[in-house]
Amino acid sequence: MDSFLHYLSMPYLLAGIEVTLQATALGFFGGFVLGALLATMALSRHRLVAGVARTYSVIFRGTPLVLQLVFVFTALPHAGIVLSPILAAGVALAANEATFFAEILRSSVLGVDRGQTDAARALGLRPKRVLRRIIGPQAGRAAIPAIGSEAVSTMKNSALASIIALPELTLRSNQLASATFDYFSIFFASGVMYLLLTGAITGLQLIVERTVDLDRLDRRRRGRPEATAAAVDAGPPPTPVPVPARVPVRPNRVALTVSGVHKAFGEHQVLRGVDLELHEGEVVALLGPSGSGKSTLLRLINHLETLDAGSISFDGLAVGYSASGTSLPEREVAQQRVEAGVGMVFQHFNLFGHLTARENVAVSPRWVRGVPKDEALAAADQLLARVGLSARAHALPRQLSGGQQQRVGIARALAGRPRVLLLDEPTSALDPELVREVLEVIRSLAVDEGLTMLIATHQLRFAREVADRVVFMADGVVLEQGPSAQVLDSPQNPVAARFLRAVHTMEV
Ligand code: ADP
Ligand code: MG
Repeated sequence: MDSFLHYLSMPYLLAGIEVTLQATALGFFGGFVLGALLATMALSRHRLVAGVARTYSVIFRGTPLVLQLVFVFTALPHAGIVLSPILAAGVALAANEATFFAEILRSSVLGVDRGQTDAARALGLRPKRVLRRIIGPQAGRAAIPAIGSEAVSTMKNSALASIIALPELTLRSNQLASATFDYFSIFFASGVMYLLLTGAITGLQLIVERTVDLDRLDRRRRGRPEATAAAVDAGPPPTPVPVPARVPVRPNRVALTVSGVHKAFGEHQVLRGVDLELHEGEVVALLGPSGSGKSTLLRLINHLETLDAGSISFDGLAVGYSASGTSLPEREVAQQRVEAGVGMVFQHFNLFGHLTARENVAVSPRWVRGVPKDEALAAADQLLARVGLSARAHALPRQLSGGQQQRVGIARALAGRPRVLLLDEPTSALDPELVREVLEVIRSLAVDEGLTMLIATHQLRFAREVADRVVFMADGVVLEQGPSAQVLDSPQNPVAARFLRAVHTMEV
């Protein structure tokens, strides 16, 4: 026992720990940076770039680290690159770890729901901001446990560097044991030292996890214990203020023109020549069976999808294309979305999962218009009040009901000050009893604000009360359109008539 304690505090071995830590740090941080680069390359749309990343992974993941260490230390000098043992160990460890980091980062980015990117793009965030503010924080949180375990594995792998005579802990333990023959005590002490070091890494990982834990941040932000927070939040849902029926607007300036739009996904022709006009202040309900292309049309309008043929313009501005008709990079498209003033509300809400309700609403002011944080959040609070959600301003999306999430989604779109708001079946993912609260909010936007809206919906009663016009689509074409009452009460097209009868039967 005495000799064990003696070895545990022996300067010779402690110096080995220092070298182990250096090699681990080089391997970990170098591997992380190189891995991030590889992950970016692997996610690239350019096949060659992605191919280079994949080839790298195949080579470095498929060969033993020991060989890589020996290669870096003994083969590189032939190419005129002579590295000290510590640098050689750092380079080999980093090169090897990079492949694992790349996979961790790539899978955590891919693990973030596509809807998050869609929502951020629809708000007009530029690609770098989407990555930094929306994807990065969510992917980063998801990656922490795996990154922690990679750090532990880097430290254990650093022991292999004893083969290139790096005087780290394992090599020193070996040397000491060969000299004293006290194998058991020395390796026991060395094992305990490794355990302490890797234990410290695990501890660090837990601290980082706790620091960025959303629920914990949430409790701190509220400054009150969870129980009371829940009690306060569990208040009754707001009673919607009854609003008068919408007075049909007189069509004035054209806000949006869709003409001859075609779109196919592979062989599947989804839109086959769609024409549509939306006037300022007008509310148009887009009806049609599931799969008729409503969502695709809305996504084409704000250029979340690219057009195959035809054109779409907001008062002369074609989002996604230059004046001469060439496609623009996403960075410029983002700016165009803002200029066109097109906002979107999604069927599945797509609220940013790592942000509270008020932070969600403040995204566009803060990260598109550059409004200072406090000011943006104060404005967000006002918008939340307007959709009846003041009490839930600090809640995370997953703490909200579907109806509340959708109301935040509407407030978030409104914060972008849209001139044209696209709503893709805003209530169809909701439980029946939550539909009304969302429809009331939309109705008040139509009636009180006179907001120009294109709403894909199956709510016939709502369409009749709120929409000025109904456009009926099936199989990628507009079959019938006209004033709401006319289309809903006496559809001319037999397909439209059959569909309306079927939906109507379900509604009553
Ligand atoms: P709706 O919203 O009217 O239900 P959608 O526009 O969502 O219809 O879909 C129309 C058709 O296009 C469907 O058959 C759907 O499977 C197909 N589709 C939509 N998006 C994609 C996509 N990204 N890739 C392939 N097919 C798609
Ligand atoms: Mg749809």
